[in-house]
Formats: sequence, C-alpha cells, structure tokens
Amino acid sequence: MHETGKMWMTARTSAWSRKRVLVTGGAGFVGSHLCEKLLERGDEVVCADNFYTGSRHNVYHLLDNPRFELVRHDVTFPLYVEVDQVYNLACPASPIHYQNDPVQTTKTSFLGAVNMLGLAKRLRIPILQASTSEVYGDPHVHPQREDYWGNVNPIGIRSCYDEGKRCAETLFFDYHRQHRIEIKVARIFNTYGPRMHPNDGRVVSNFICQALRGQDITIYGDGSQTRSFCYVADLVDGLMRLMDSDASVTGPINLGNPGEFTMIELADAVRELTGSKSRLVRMPLPSDDPKQRQPDIAVATATLGWTPQVALREGLARTIEYFAKVV
Ligand code: NAD
Ligand code: UDP
Repeated sequence: MHETGKMWMTARTSAWSRKRVLVTGGAGFVGSHLCEKLLERGDEVVCADNFYTGSRHNVYHLLDNPRFELVRHDVTFPLYVEVDQVYNLACPASPIHYQNDPVQTTKTSFLGAVNMLGLAKRLRIPILQASTSEVYGDPHVHPQREDYWGNVNPIGIRSCYDEGKRCAETLFFDYHRQHRIEIKVARIFNTYGPRMHPNDGRVVSNFICQALRGQDITIYGDGSQTRSFCYVADLVDGLMRLMDSDASVTGPINLGNPGEFTMIELADAVRELTGSKSRLVRMPLPSDDPKQRQPDIAVATATLGWTPQVALREGLARTIEYFAKVV
C-alpha cells in the first residue's frame, strides 16, 4: 500500500478505536486532573461544567488539544452528546461551597444523576459516579467498609451534600437493576493536590495557604478529629481503573489513602514542610463534623489492583509547590 495511504489508515483506525469520554465537573479540582489523564492516553474528552466552583483556568492548558472540548453546562438540565463513557463529577465538594447554596447542591446531585443516567441509558454506555465517604456520615464503624450503611444526619447543614450523594447512589443502583445500565460507584475519601481552590475552605488548602502567608493555622475543635488524605494522581488512577473494570464491577468501592491523621498532625506536617512559624489557633467545630474517617480499601485492591502510591508528606510537598506559585 502507498505510504500516505498507510498513514491515513493508521490515523483513522486509532480515531475509530478512540473513546469519547464525558467528564461532568471537568473544570474542577479532580475533574481537571482526570481530563488531563484521559487525553494523555489518547481519549477524546468532553468536559461539561457550569463553573460554580471550577474554572476555565484549570483546563486552559488543554484548550489547544483538538481532542478536548469544553462545554458550559449545568447538569441539573439534560445534556445531549454522543459519548462512550461518562464520569459524573459535577458537584461542589468543599463544605463552604456546598453549604452556600444547599438547595442547588441537592439538585446537582439528584437531578445531575437523573440526567446523566438518562444519557447513559439512551446511549447504553457505562457511567461512573463520584460518590463520597460522606455517605458514611459520622461513622460508628472504623475503618469504613463499603458494607457499612453509615450514620448520617438527614436535616443538618451537611445533609444537602451527604443525602444528595446517597440519593444519587440509590438512583445509580436502581438504573442498574431496572434498566441494566453499567454503573461504577466510587466512594471518594478526602483528596488533595494542585488546583484545589485556595479559598475553598478545605483543610489541606486552608492550612497550606495560611502557612505560606504566615497567618494563623485554624484548627476547628480540638484538632483530634481524623481524616485520611489521598493525593489526586492516585485518586484519578483509581477512577480510571474502576471505569475500565469488568461490567460486573458496580461498586460501591472506597477510593482513598488509608493513612489516618489528626488535624493537629496535618498542621504540624504543613508547618514543617513550609518552614512556617504560623501559630495554631482554635476555632469552633462546625456542626456534624465527622470525628474520624479512614477507608478500608481491601475491595479496591482486590478488584482493581489499586493502592495509593503517594504518601502524605510527598503529596503535601507537591501541593505546597503549587500553592507557593498561586498565593
Ligand atoms: P470541585 O468543586 O473542585 O469540582 C466540582 C466541579 O463541578 C466544579 O468544576 C464545579 O464548577 C462543577 N459543578 C458544580 N455544580 C455543577 C452543576 N450543577 N453542573 C455542572 N457542573 C457543576 O470539587 P472536586 O474536589 O473536584 O470534586 C469532584 C467530585 O468528587 C465531586 O462530585 C465531589 O463530590 C467528589 N468528591 C471529592 C472529594 C475530594 O476530597 N476532593 C471527596 C469526595 C468526593
Ligand atoms: N478543618 C480545620 N481547619 C480548617 C478547615 C477544616 O480544622 O481550616 C477540619 C474540619 O473541621 C474537618 C477536617 O478539617 O474536621 C476536614 O475538613 P474538610 O472541610 O477539608 O473536609 P470534610 O470535613 O468534608 O472531610
């Protein structure tokens, strides 16, 4: 065959076998890293976002890529696109942001799930839901396994997020049972890394920005509450493995780093890594703040061959390097 013809065949063949992937919330912190990785492996990416907490800046570096498309869209409304897979990440994740407009938060989780599941049903394609460790509420079982049903306040200030995500899980499993949709539900534990919003109020971004600015580090409550922090690259790897797993794997699957730290330990690590002299100051503990959080990731390890690779201090160092340029 003529050389040019061969090249044309190669290009067309790879274009045909390439996946077209929708990432809702793709201009957010986790979504932007996911879009980047999907493009890196050759997929086409449609990123749909209403820029409520995300920003074009998070995906500026992808805009020149002909395989990347950015669409302003609110997932509480139906979306008509032709794709092969959906990652449904659209939803504010920081307590400050999701409590700012709680009705919209519940609508985003609930109507967003209905609309994206409708899309998956029409196209008969797999869909992954970014669920959360918040479905366990203030857990009585520690570490949290997927078969624990949780301890969630249905009427508190965190409920718009927690119950919205729980209802979305219900919808995913009902669409799976009723309409035979291939679903993948990931229960994501606290994730951190570059491109977190400096003002989104989450603990890692707060502590790093405060330390870099020489401000007091705000410890809510006595700082003995624990969280387990997963570096964003590890999470994205877990999400992609889950999406690519066998159709029989529905989840829910915990994705998080089992390393568990108190907020005092986190503050000390941030102070040491930034060389900051910031003082720790106590602030009131927000209501319904979970006392402890640690994922049991046995299912993710056995099913997806996934374990996080980035230890807290290494991930913090990379995150500090990023924030040092933006604050
Ligand atoms: P983020 O706030 O940075 O990103 C969320 C994105 O969704 C933003 O770009 C935002 O503009 C967009 N969005 C919000 N409402 C929307 C709507 N109605 N329509 C379209 N887009 C909308 O948060 P993140 O940390 O990147 O979280 C991504 C997903 O992962 C969320 O679903 C979150 O609940 C889940 N999650 C994250 C964590 C974490 O620690 N980062 C933990 C558990 C679960
Ligand atoms: N937190 C804190 N200081 C801050 C921000 C948060 O001590 O400046 C605490 C917060 O009370 C919670 C933990 O850090 O116990 C994690 O908070 P984040 O908002 O990051 O996530 P979530 O509570 O949703 O796990």
